[in-house]
Amino acid sequence: MLLLLPQKKENAGTARREMGLKVTPRRNVLSAINNGEANGGTPSAPADGGGAEAAPVVEFSGREDVERLLAEKMKGKSKNDYKGRIEQMSDYIKKLRACIRWYMELEDGYLAEQEKLRETQLSNAIEELKAANLDLTRRCESLEETLNREKSEKLIAVESYEKEKQERESAESSRDVLTVDLERVTHDAKRFSEQLKMVQDTNKRLQEYNTSLQQYNSNLQADASKSGETISKLQKEKSAMMESMAALRECNNSMSSQLESSRASQQKAIRVKEELRKEVECLRAELKQETCNTQQKQIQTFQKQLAVATQKLKLADVTAIEAMTGYEEQKEKIKYLEERLAHAESQIVEGDELRKKLHNTILELKGNIRVFCRVRPLLRFDGDSNGPEGASISASISFPTSVESTGRAIDLMNQGQKLSFSYDKVFDHNASQEDVFVEISQLVQSALDGYKVCIFAYGQTGSGKTYTMMGRPGIDQKGIIPRSLEQIFKTSQSLESQGWEYSMQASMLEIYNETIRDLLAPGRPNSFDMTPSKQYTIKHDSHGNTTVSDLTIIDVFSIADVTTLLEKASHSRSVGKTQMNEQSSRSHFVFTLKISGSNENTGQHVQGVLNLIDLAGSERLAKSGSTGDRLKETQSINKSLSALSDVIFAIAKGDDHVPFRNSKLTYLLQPCLGGDSKTLMFVNISPEASSVGETICSLRFASRVNACEIGIPRRQTQARSFDSRLSYG
Ligand code: ADP
Ligand code: MG
Repeated sequence: MLLLLPQKKENAGTARREMGLKVTPRRNVLSAINNGEANGGTPSAPADGGGAEAAPVVEFSGREDVERLLAEKMKGKSKNDYKGRIEQMSDYIKKLRACIRWYMELEDGYLAEQEKLRETQLSNAIEELKAANLDLTRRCESLEETLNREKSEKLIAVESYEKEKQERESAESSRDVLTVDLERVTHDAKRFSEQLKMVQDTNKRLQEYNTSLQQYNSNLQADASKSGETISKLQKEKSAMMESMAALRECNNSMSSQLESSRASQQKAIRVKEELRKEVECLRAELKQETCNTQQKQIQTFQKQLAVATQKLKLADVTAIEAMTGYEEQKEKIKYLEERLAHAESQIVEGDELRKKLHNTILELKGNIRVFCRVRPLLRFDGDSNGPEGASISASISFPTSVESTGRAIDLMNQGQKLSFSYDKVFDHNASQEDVFVEISQLVQSALDGYKVCIFAYGQTGSGKTYTMMGRPGIDQKGIIPRSLEQIFKTSQSLESQGWEYSMQASMLEIYNETIRDLLAPGRPNSFDMTPSKQYTIKHDSHGNTTVSDLTIIDVFSIADVTTLLEKASHSRSVGKTQMNEQSSRSHFVFTLKISGSNENTGQHVQGVLNLIDLAGSERLAKSGSTGDRLKETQSINKSLSALSDVIFAIAKGDDHVPFRNSKLTYLLQPCLGGDSKTLMFVNISPEASSVGETICSLRFASRVNACEIGIPRRQTQARSFDSRLSYG
């Protein structure tokens, strides 16, 4: 473009010089004009009348001519010769004029030339520009084409970039998800392997314990059977000996009688001898020689008879002595056998002690707060069940069947996501009351051995807490409470043979809106009082025994006694239910059995407590929907259930302060939660789809509880003089 611009100013001089050369032919024209001015157009012709004198012809051929004109001097005319001077001047003026004209011409020429030159230059430039323009247009078009092509390519590229970006983002997000999953899975795997290792360890230890227990047991059994055999052998021997002793006695008797008779016969013989001697003397004297021979013979036989009798007597004496020593020996042997029998019996007692100890070690190894989960079957009224009662289970709940998780795990599908939980034990919908009880019977046994035991049922209303704890009438449907009592009475009776004697006291209460109600209070159940005048103050003594003032405590001696009490309590509760808008699900039910046992033989005294608790429904009510009494109920249930979990977690963490006093329930159970006790929590689950939210809450809570270990339980054994009549707990 710059190339096409007009010439610059610096070049103007050169251009003019060039022009000067070019205009040379016009000088003549100029000269002609110069002259023509003066001469009227023709150089040769004279000028018109205006120029009378012949004007000098001025010829300008260049700058020199002009300079010369400028340098021209006036010719020496006198000062006064004005005419001459004027002539001269006018001549000069003419010349100047011509010069000016020449300049003007020249300038015009120049201008025209310049114009022409500029025009040519311009047209050249325009041509060039046009060409350039064309070229540019072409280039522009091609560029545009390229641009368009590139644009479309770019568009495609952008599109593919977007697509790639999206793909990359999705890949990244899936990678993130996978990383998280991987982390979780690795974490899980680590945890599982740790758990597995722990479980394997525990298993190994348990197996070791088990084998040692079995060995010990088999030894004991072998010993016992051996002892039994020995005893029966000894008893046989003893009876044989008794028999032989009797025989010997008889023999002895007969011998003594024989002896007596021998003695008598001896006496008789002596007497006979005497008589005979007298006779002999008489005969000697009378018959002298004739009868002497025969009589002497008679004497000889008599003497022989006497010797035999004496011999016989001696023999009888010896047998009698032998019989006496045999009798003594038998006596010794019987004494020895009796001692061995006593020893064997004490060994059996020791073995029983060892069994208890090992049983507790096993329980301790299993962890002290244990959590069992129970899923009830779908019921006809649940809505999403088509089949008969108990026939099916919701599709969202499943029970893994791998080796390590059978009976210990539960899976829940929620919005397409699978949640897995595992506990000490999981009972599916097919588990019977008996199946459940088998798993807790050891724990119940612990109460007889002097431990404090707590069994809770936790879960939303309708999930089967009352069914699990209390059950329904009918042999197969009985729950934990009646079965525990049956076991306790049966076992306590069988322990009587070992010298144990047990006494038991029962109480039943309900905590509603942080108020205690006595379910065994005397009087008609219909007069159930909402604002009791009784205080029911909870107190703990330094031995960990709890008393509740004014609470009815009943001595129970048989399962029949307790059955009556349970009926009374459930009647009180059901009356409460109709009168007070289903309060049974809004209150905590606490059954307490205090067990005192003492053993005359060993001087031991144990004191155990069994607490069986049916908690209030754990469901969270919609806050907006509840007002008044309902709101108060909900708040107090939430408060006490969260107080219960706070207590469990505080104990598990080893906090200095455990907030037992935050609710009546935790304060009542204070000595039975934590170090001294054994705790089990049932988490009851409703299987229907509408309960999924509550189910997740319950399972999560249970998992947290399951992770707790609350210390080592202690057995409560006391001095013989312990008076248990006044205390409770
Ligand atoms: P909760 O005490 O938790 O409110 P319930 O124990 O009253 O619940 O149970 C609700 C209903 O389900 C009752 O009719 C009960 O008999 C029944 N039910 C609970 N668990 C089972 C089970 N395992 N088998 C059969 N029926 C059950
Ligand atoms: Mg209930």
